[in-house]
Amino acid sequence: MHPEIGTGKTPENLIPVHIMGTRYMVPPSLPIMAAMEYAGYRLLRGCGCRRGLRRACGTAYRIHGDPQLFSGLACQTVVQSGMYLAQIPFFPARRASYDLTKLEPSAVALFGAYPQLLRCLGCGACTKACPQDIDVRAYMAAGMKGDIQRMADLSFDCIMCGLCAARCPAEEAQYNIALLARRLTGRYLVPRSAHLEERLEEIRRGDFDADLAELKSLSKQELTARYSAREIEPEDRLGSRED
Ligand code: SF4
Ligand code: SF4
Repeated sequence: MHPEIGTGKTPENLIPVHIMGTRYMVPPSLPIMAAMEYAGYRLLRGCGCRRGLRRACGTAYRIHGDPQLFSGLACQTVVQSGMYLAQIPFFPARRASYDLTKLEPSAVALFGAYPQLLRCLGCGACTKACPQDIDVRAYMAAGMKGDIQRMADLSFDCIMCGLCAARCPAEEAQYNIALLARRLTGRYLVPRSAHLEERLEEIRRGDFDADLAELKSLSKQELTARYSAREIEPEDRLGSRED
């Protein structure tokens, strides 16, 4: 890795950032992850999907002269001059063990698995930290009231990055509590999907057995060719979806 790299650009086009304690000059338009690669880091872990959909690239940073600690996803947050960066690929928040089939969709299930839920101070540090713009404080408040379905709805876009837990003074494991709420909601509170029941029946009946057996018999090359030739939804249609 090189502290300052020339790529034909003049140094005036570049801005200084500190990555894991070392200073580098990088283009100002890059997301943190691309800036790290520009600086010579080869990211094998902690890079995830690169589209803000997974939890792998949580990053904490400060800006020179500002005492505040910021956080964001390295694939989505653009570098700023004077950034001091450290990656947090995993946050060791508490995760309860439970058997969903033995729980009921009530506040007792939430408080039983996560008694610390009631310690939430309502400070909102979690909401400020969330790269998904989720109102984490609001879903925690719903959980404290035992409103499981609202907690599930409000946390629906959570990517489990752990940045909310990293900033919480009450040491909550917000995203794991919300995951339990979504599981309880999915199992007990929302209507069963007729399509899902139909598909399960088709699987039980063996409707796909022949196709699966044929796929299993293919070589790696044949599988690769079949995969490349598959019908996929065009990118522009995916991009224009609103849901
Ligand atoms: S940061 Fe922690 S204490 Fe503050 S509102 Fe969020 S969950 Fe509650
Ligand atoms: S709620 Fe917490 S874990 Fe989920 S995306 Fe927001 S910061 Fe990440």
